Amino acid sequence: MANFYTDHPEIKFNVESSPLMEKIVNLKEHGYADKDNFDYAPEDFADALDSYDRVCEIAGEITANTIFPNSEDVDAEGPHCENGRVRYASKTYENLEATRKAGLNGVTMPRRYGGLNFPVTVYTAINEMIAAADAGFENIWSLQDCIETLYEFGNDDQRSRYIPRVCAGETMSMDLTEPDAGSDLQRVMLKATYSEEDKCWYLNGVKRFITNGDSDSHLVLARSEEGTHDARGLSMFI
Ligand SMILES: Cc1cc2nc3c(=O)[nH]c(=O)nc-3n(C[C@H](O)[C@H](O)[C@H](O)COP(=O)(O)OP(=O)(O)OC[C@H]3O[C@@H](n4cnc5c(N)ncnc54)[C@H](O)[C@@H]3O)c2cc1C
Repeated sequence: MANFYTDHPEIKFNVESSPLMEKIVNLKEHGYADKDNFDYAPEDFADALDSYDRVCEIAGEITANTIFPNSEDVDAEGPHCENGRVRYASKTYENLEATRKAGLNGVTMPRRYGGLNFPVTVYTAINEMIAAADAGFENIWSLQDCIETLYEFGNDDQRSRYIPRVCAGETMSMDLTEPDAGSDLQRVMLKATYSEEDKCWYLNGVKRFITNGDSDSHLVLARSEEGTHDARGLSMFI
């Protein structure tokens, strides 16, 4: 049976032969501290490489035998609009379900949120297999990495509310571009206003050209400080 991982040994070579890989894995695993709390957490570097290998092999299996064979039908059917929402081609849902079942969501996120805690190197290897099977689907799947921004800059409440959803298979998008703000993002005008009464922010404005723009969760760049006209005064909203 075809497998986009085992049929292309250069992917494994790239993952395992980087001179910095042992250092990267040590940093990502914080000295393998998760081993006492999660039975699937690696105990050492060799164990980590073994789990990357196993997950990559599963990714290789579904990319070769589900996502690649589905790609022609996905192109022929395409996405369409239904009741004001985007509906993907039917086989895109099959692909999303296959990646979800294989645990390929929240690949780089910590285990405590339901992620695999893999380094970006491994995420990129899986991404390469998915792109080879269906470059369009790769866009939808790989936008899970928008969650890196929330993990890095969000607070604990936002992390615990949103990261598990992405690890469970929800999709994401990064909403930056506007009709008058493309290359020059300092011109973003979408307005964010805080309501003391409702204790939340309201966003008002227009975004365009957003890849996977009807995703489950959005990171949205908006102007949160009145009277500003450049990059100062912009914030990211989830
Ligand atoms: C396939 C695709 C997917 C996209 N996905 C997303 C997404 O997920 N999220 C998102 O927010 N946006 C997305 N975009 C939008 C993308 O980020 C913008 O198209 C891009 O930033 C350019 O902006 P613009 O189209 O307004 O063009 P403009 O910025 O108006 O540029 C028009 C032309 O002017 C040139 N130009 C601009 N500035 C200068 C300068 N200072 N000096 C010289 N020449 C200049 C450009 O090279 C270009 O030829 C996507 C676009 C595409 C094509």
